[in-house]
Amino acid sequence: MSRDIDAILRSPKAYLWARKAIEAMETHRVWPTALNFELWLHYVAVKDSDVAAQISTVIQSGAPFTDQIGEAIAAQHLPGAKLTGEILDAGKSLSQELDSVSRAIESARESSEAYGQQLATATESLQEQDASAVRTMVETLSQATRKVREENQALESQLADTTDELARMRAHLEQVRRDAMTDSLTGLANRKAFDETLESACAQAQQRGEPMTLAVVDIDHFKNFNDTWGHQTGDQVIRYVASVIGRVGATPRLAARYGGEEFAVIFPGEKSAVVMAAMEGAREEIASRVLKRRSTNEDLGAITISTGIAELKPGDSPMSLLEAADGALYASKRNGRNRTSIAAANSETRAA
Ligand code: GH3
Ligand code: MG
Ligand code: MG
Repeated sequence: MSRDIDAILRSPKAYLWARKAIEAMETHRVWPTALNFELWLHYVAVKDSDVAAQISTVIQSGAPFTDQIGEAIAAQHLPGAKLTGEILDAGKSLSQELDSVSRAIESARESSEAYGQQLATATESLQEQDASAVRTMVETLSQATRKVREENQALESQLADTTDELARMRAHLEQVRRDAMTDSLTGLANRKAFDETLESACAQAQQRGEPMTLAVVDIDHFKNFNDTWGHQTGDQVIRYVASVIGRVGATPRLAARYGGEEFAVIFPGEKSAVVMAAMEGAREEIASRVLKRRSTNEDLGAITISTGIAELKPGDSPMSLLEAADGALYASKRNGRNRTSIAAANSETRAA
């Protein structure tokens, strides 16, 4: 943390600035990593800083504020900032920080209560003496005690407010994190979430020697559909297909909207034959449903999907697996659409 930010986070307005930073990040769709959070705190709270100036430039350029841009700004202007390798998943690390602050507050509250009780007990025992010197002392002490207790009460209510505020911030952060992973039209995972999950699912399968399969789906002749029925009705169809794909890809699988009318499902621990059956189920369900236009109840006919499936092979990378699945998808398209194909079993044949 830079000294400026340190001072801000210790000031009474810390929560206000933190909230503003998160809101600004949300507005500009910035991924909530710890590093980005630190940068965007500068942006909202240290307006005349180099970091704020750089962020403004990026915003004005209209380019998305990527992690790489954030890291470059930090490397240049925040020499103390933690860089890539060290950055934990921000939501998590910020959450952990909030947890430890909450715990510190809780223990401060407990010790202040204990202190109040000790003083009250001492006062009681002193009040049993009757010499006047002692009485004077008792009065002085009990006044002091009362004052400390009042102060403690004020602190306690302040701490309670702080704890509530932290809980609200954490909930907000969680929401931001979920939104950043979700496709807004369909509610499925978005491309970013898909890329990350594909990478970790491949690594895990290779590490454990378990199978893993990927399916990619593309709606057939969707351009025609849009041209005939309009983009809005097209969007409804994308949502409908997403709902079917989402059921097939329920946890522990992952269903994502990969692009406009393209979807992908990751099947950890599953072989291509099982995935073939699951995807054929989805294909048949979609093809057999007669769609109606919501606004006019007009018959839209049926739509169909084409699917490509590839099982992870030794030596595969997330990229080569995706390419293999894509190849199988195009085989489905070439062979007449409304079908599901499996990629060749080894990567040499796949490349051919
Ligand atoms: P193919 O069977 O070869 O896939 O034919 P296609 O017409 O579906 O071809 P392609 O996949 O290249 O076209 C995708 C079309 O999907 C282009 C665009 O009109 C439409 N599309 C992409 N994203 C969206 C979206 O978010 N909403 C709507 N309504 N349409 C979209
Ligand atoms: Mg397409
Ligand atoms: Mg298509």
